[in-house]
Amino acid sequence: MMAQYHDVKRAHPGCMLFYRMGDFYELFFDDAVAASKVLNIALTKRGRHEGEDIPMCGVPVHSHESYLQRLIRHGFRVAICEQLEDPAEARKRGGKAVVKRDVIRIVTPGTITEDSLLDARSANYLGALAEAGGGLGLGWLDLSTGAVTLQPVAAVGQILSMAIARLDPQELLVSEKLIQRSELFEWLGEWKDRLSVQSNSLFDSENGRLRLQTLYGVGTLDAFGAFERAEIAAAGALVAYIDLTQKGKVPRLQPPRRVSPGSAMDIDAATRRNLELTRTLSGERRGSLLSAIDRTVFGPGARLLADRLAAPLTDVVAIDERLDLVEFFVREERLRVDIRAALKATPDLERAMSRLSLGRGGPRDAAAVRDALIQAENMREVLSPFSETAPLDLRRLTRNLGEHSTLVQRLSAALASELPILTRDGGFIARGYSLPLDELVMLRDEGKRLIAGLQARYSADTGVNSLKIKFNNVLGYHIEVSAVQADKLMTGARRETFIHRQTTANAVRFSTVELADLERKISEAGDRALAIELELFAVLTTEIAGRAETLLPTAQALAELDVAAALAELAVERAYCRPQISDDLAFEIRKGRHPVVEAALEEAGDSRFVANDCDLGPERRLWLLTGPNMAGKSTFLRQNALIAIMAQMGAFVPAEAVRLGVVDRLFSRVGAADDLARGRSTFMVEMVETAAILNQAGLRALVILDEIGRGTATFDGLSIAWACVEHLHEHIGCRGLFATHYHELTMLASKLRHLACHTMRIKEWSGDVVFLHEVAVGSADRSYGVHVARLAGLPSAVVARAEQVLKILETGEKAAGVARLAEDLPLFQAAARPVAAASVARVSEVEKTLADLNPDDMTPRAALEALYRLRSLLPKNK
Ligand code: ATP
Repeated sequence: MMAQYHDVKRAHPGCMLFYRMGDFYELFFDDAVAASKVLNIALTKRGRHEGEDIPMCGVPVHSHESYLQRLIRHGFRVAICEQLEDPAEARKRGGKAVVKRDVIRIVTPGTITEDSLLDARSANYLGALAEAGGGLGLGWLDLSTGAVTLQPVAAVGQILSMAIARLDPQELLVSEKLIQRSELFEWLGEWKDRLSVQSNSLFDSENGRLRLQTLYGVGTLDAFGAFERAEIAAAGALVAYIDLTQKGKVPRLQPPRRVSPGSAMDIDAATRRNLELTRTLSGERRGSLLSAIDRTVFGPGARLLADRLAAPLTDVVAIDERLDLVEFFVREERLRVDIRAALKATPDLERAMSRLSLGRGGPRDAAAVRDALIQAENMREVLSPFSETAPLDLRRLTRNLGEHSTLVQRLSAALASELPILTRDGGFIARGYSLPLDELVMLRDEGKRLIAGLQARYSADTGVNSLKIKFNNVLGYHIEVSAVQADKLMTGARRETFIHRQTTANAVRFSTVELADLERKISEAGDRALAIELELFAVLTTEIAGRAETLLPTAQALAELDVAAALAELAVERAYCRPQISDDLAFEIRKGRHPVVEAALEEAGDSRFVANDCDLGPERRLWLLTGPNMAGKSTFLRQNALIAIMAQMGAFVPAEAVRLGVVDRLFSRVGAADDLARGRSTFMVEMVETAAILNQAGLRALVILDEIGRGTATFDGLSIAWACVEHLHEHIGCRGLFATHYHELTMLASKLRHLACHTMRIKEWSGDVVFLHEVAVGSADRSYGVHVARLAGLPSAVVARAEQVLKILETGEKAAGVARLAEDLPLFQAAARPVAAASVARVSEVEKTLADLNPDDMTPRAALEALYRLRSLLPKNK
């Protein structure tokens, strides 16, 4: 058996091996050691290998999924090795024959399909990055829909990093050759835990082409689009990898689609992170923009919403189509409520279909398809009265909900009302669906009835009232009596009838020829019934898979309806408005709010959010925002970026009115974090991000810069910030918001025509500062940092001293002020610590003596003596 284990293990390098033994998956050697740690299960040993104990641990087959989930989350890939025959078959080959086993599937983060392993509300993409013909190609696959998407990428760099940030793949395949390139780490460092290195052969573009042609049954891929070699190589790698991990069971994949460059707003990874689009800076979903705006009620809807947020559109017409649909659902409240109620009761059609198409589906997946289609039909009916007034998009969706009554009828007739999870348990085909099956089931049930009769007869014959006929996996059907009554069956003529099988502490078990006959009949009928059920299930699965072409549009339509109705719900609930999208360079937000901060303030029952205008129209396209700490500068900056994203993803926005000329790229430099893993200090990260912005932003970009140059010396920082503003204004000409504490920058307003100065208003009131959170024209002259420090609870002595220092620095020239301060350091004052006080006193003595000396009047000898005296005044150990 160990030889077999090693063979299988060798054939699957890099995988943890789940080796099936009866009711357990066992793990051995290093796998066992690693798994026992991650899963917190006991590590035992079994047998010896090369003189050492073999470490082992195991997980029960019936509950293995939760263990699998934990291992996958920890980045392991798991090969599932099953028994391919009944142990009884193996025994027939001889006592020592090993049961045939092989890997039936490799479970990896990008290829899982089980509900228990997936997050219902997040997509699970498998990505591949390939290099061919001098360029790079990125491909990705969503196993739940079979959608394959490709994108050409010129080189390793910002574009690639942005595309991957948008995708957020669970697993990204790269070749052994590509991984050698050092710049890959520079740009893909963030995803290093998701990289899955595969052999170069998987990425060969010619093999890829052939593989795809075979898969889609076409002689050329031209009909699907003009793809570059690297894109074909990436798609080929995806297909090959699926083939490899699913052991030949490639699901139905849709023909590849290309993302045309420029169709979505480009947002780099840092900006996504900084703006907390789908996760907060600390990595949580709660508190992100997505969680604040997500009102979807259906898993595929939640996934589509996340996709749309990740890739806001740039095409005005397409954005308007989405907005029309949201507006329609805002207007039609009753319909919205009905559609949402129906969606809530709709199972995840996409994922059920993907499991069925991979041969991994159970009866409940077939029922999920049926129930989803029933709901789709309901929704079609609810929507049909609106066919005249509805926007175009809704008519398309209603059409795509399709007509599936034949399949629904078939599934309804075929599936029993109570369904097991696994097909192998049987009992999922309804009575009346198949005559041969019904007959066998009757025979099996009749047998069970006969057994009940037999029990009554044996009990009467033997006079043992408590006699029972029971069933277990070892003995099968058997007669059981208590130990005290056993004699009655073991004496006289009854000894002939009742054959003793087993004695336990409390009971004695027997069988009879009659019972064995009945059992055989029952089991034969049961086996044949199960075989028929499995056959029928295979037919149903094939039928579902065969209709994928009409089912997938239905699934997509359900998700789109959910997103539109959810965004409408959000708009009504939070009083959002429909943005006006145009092709010009407008950026006019009236009474805009921050969607997350507003909701958080409301939830906490704190003060209300103060709405603010922002107009970055061509005349005043760059705003310089000054104001105290804590006044709301960052919030204002972010809210405008978030409104642009939401508008272009086709959502209503938190404002009273918005006019937005499409933004093609969004950049932000907000907050600062070390990236020590990549060897960059806080300031370095800040400069790298700023460099990316200044090098890449164009006229249609939106740039959000929060406190550039903060992480270095004041003058360096100010100079950098100064130059950045000039560059943005003079050379790039994009719309932008620049928040700063360098109040000197406001002087630029007189020089730069399109620069407008704004400030956060505050009220000073009997020495206190009240933040009004209002943006007004003008500039601030102070930051009130010391005030915020007091609010934060810095010790009062420190705050008092800081105020003193500030006053000195503010009066007169900085350099002189600092010099005065150094003379006046609190360390040398009486209030300082005792040790310091003692040394201060001694030094003063020296100073005093020195001051009394008059070198002009001294002889050389007197000078020497004075020197000795001074020396003696120093502490002894100096
Ligand atoms: P710093 O200069 O210290 O970074 P800041 O000016 O960028 O501060 P923010 O971080 O934007 O200030 O805001 C501080 C807090 O003020 C927020 O956490 C929020 O609770 C509140 N706040 C900001 N804007 C508003 C607003 N418009 N209405 C109500 N509260 C607001």
